[in-house]
Amino acid sequence: MAAYDYDLFVLGAGSGGVRAARLAAQAGARVVVAEADRVGGTCVIRGCIPKKFMVYASAFAADFDAARGYGWEIGETRFDWQAFCDARDREVARLSGLYVANLGNAGADILHGRAELLSAHEIGVPSKGLTVTADKILIATGGAPWRPDIPGIDHAIVSDQVFHLPRLPRRMTIVGGGYIAVEFAGVFNGLGVDTTLVYRGANILRGFDDDIRAHLAEEMERRCVKVVLGEEPVSLEKDGDTIRTTLSGGRVEEAEVVLFATGRRPAAAGLGLERAGVRLAPSGAVEVDAYSRTSAANIFAIGDVTDRINLTPVAIREAHAFVDTAFLDKPARFDHDTVPCAVFSQPNVGSVGLSEAEARHGGRPVDIYRSAFRPMKGTLYGGAERAMLKLVVDRASQKVVGCHMVGPDAPEIIQMAAIPIKMGVTKAQWDEACAVHPTTAEEFVTLRVPVPDTVLGAIG
Ligand code: NDP
Repeated sequence: MAAYDYDLFVLGAGSGGVRAARLAAQAGARVVVAEADRVGGTCVIRGCIPKKFMVYASAFAADFDAARGYGWEIGETRFDWQAFCDARDREVARLSGLYVANLGNAGADILHGRAELLSAHEIGVPSKGLTVTADKILIATGGAPWRPDIPGIDHAIVSDQVFHLPRLPRRMTIVGGGYIAVEFAGVFNGLGVDTTLVYRGANILRGFDDDIRAHLAEEMERRCVKVVLGEEPVSLEKDGDTIRTTLSGGRVEEAEVVLFATGRRPAAAGLGLERAGVRLAPSGAVEVDAYSRTSAANIFAIGDVTDRINLTPVAIREAHAFVDTAFLDKPARFDHDTVPCAVFSQPNVGSVGLSEAEARHGGRPVDIYRSAFRPMKGTLYGGAERAMLKLVVDRASQKVVGCHMVGPDAPEIIQMAAIPIKMGVTKAQWDEACAVHPTTAEEFVTLRVPVPDTVLGAIG
């Protein structure tokens, strides 16, 4: 008889947990996944997927204007928030159902309820009155939105609640300058909401290349998002339907909805990790080594709960490496270096490799290739949107170490650029690729002259 009820107990049915459970079950392990909410996690239920549908929905307003410039007669347009939400939620439900079906097809069990560790091999699911034993345990509980504890904060929502707004507000204040703030600023502005983004720093998207940040902020303002920099909220007050957000400089922003997109924290509390000897980092993340092993020998952790790179594809790759290591006798580690990323702002951002500032760290000389221009589609109807493409090249080795873009389809383009960057190609090898014409991306392979050091800093 087996020593444990299961070979693997997975806490959390998000992208990482589900992938690990499926792969381990397909490898012959007896697997169970516990999930307190709907199967699918942040990405499917309250993140990437429903958010991207909102980005698509909001982009139509600009498309209608463009279409008129191309000779289309467009009658009166009206956006039906409820109809959109219903369609989006049906698709989310379908995807969640697919995840459930895929787990079942792989032979994994699902326990609907919150699980907590009772010891290194025992897991309780109190809502079901169950205690289960497992040889290995995987913590894949993700993260949750965090907001500062300032007076009146309960009047504000976080990103989880954006998907349940009963109606579109007339005005919205969004606090934060990261992915979520910038993406939802574009969404709500596109849907006709008078949108103000408040960010405490000097420019949005800290950590991204400075030219990209500046270009995006300019484009967002051109699309009528009000960007307030160098301020943070100190209190919120509600008066009828209006929420007044007082900022550090004394300015007051009024809106019907205030969204705090001030970061996410690992969801590691209340899991009984201390009972199993699993150590947490000071940030509250589960501490892991390169193989996603925690301080307890049989317990692993992947995804946002480990706070490495908090992106769905990273959690999925960590899941693959975990199953290889723990069940297939092929110790594997996911390489967190040069992970591409995208911000579904409007316009989009795509980025892979080093920013100019990172590449220059320690005084390393770099060559910068940069181009900002109006993409062809806009020229016909007087669209003012400008795209920006940038390559960062290490001068000594001539390797292309960074590739960044703001503009249409930037995430799709950067996905492909991630391949040569990961391979470590030189600028000369990069340039051997012939252009595809007429495209926006062709500019990446026709940039021949580096920006002179004397003019760096000013966007061309
Ligand atoms: P981010 O960490 O990206 O941004 C948080 C923002 O909140 C920063 O601008 C930060 O400012 C600001 N902030 C933090 N604390 C305060 C405070 N007390 N007062 C005012 N502002 C504050 O978090 P997000 O919530 O936007 O997203 C979480 C993560 O989810 C992302 O980092 C990313 O990993 C993932 N994600 C990925 C997406 C994608 O792939 N497209 C989309 C959405 C999320 P400062 O910069 O000064 O620290």
